[in-house]
Amino acid sequence: MHCRCGYTFPVDSAMRNPAGRSFALIDDKDYPAFLKEEKNAMLATEEEFSLRAIARSCRYVGCLLECPECSRILMLPANSLEAAAEPQFYSREP
Ligand SMILES: [Zn+2]
Repeated sequence: MHCRCGYTFPVDSAMRNPAGRSFALIDDKDYPAFLKEEKNAMLATEEEFSLRAIARSCRYVGCLLECPECSRILMLPANSLEAAAEPQFYSREP
C-alpha cells in the first residue's frame, strides 16, 4: 500500500503504522454493534467465545494511517482490506 508521496506502508501490518501514527476507525452506525461484541469478548469466560466475539467486532474496525513522510491521512474503512477498496487520501490544509 503506497501513499501518494511514494512512501510504502508495511504490507504485513496494515492496521499498524510503525513509522507514524495510526488510529482505529469505526463508523457511527456500526458503533453499537462493535461495543456489543467488545463487551461479549470481555465477559466471555471461555477463550474460544472471547476470540469469536473479537473476530466479530473486528469486522467493524477500519483505520486511519498517517504517512510519516508527508503527513497525509490514508483512510481504510472497515472491511476494505478484504474488499480491495481503494484507500482514500486526505491532506492537511497549509
Ligand atoms: Zn505520504
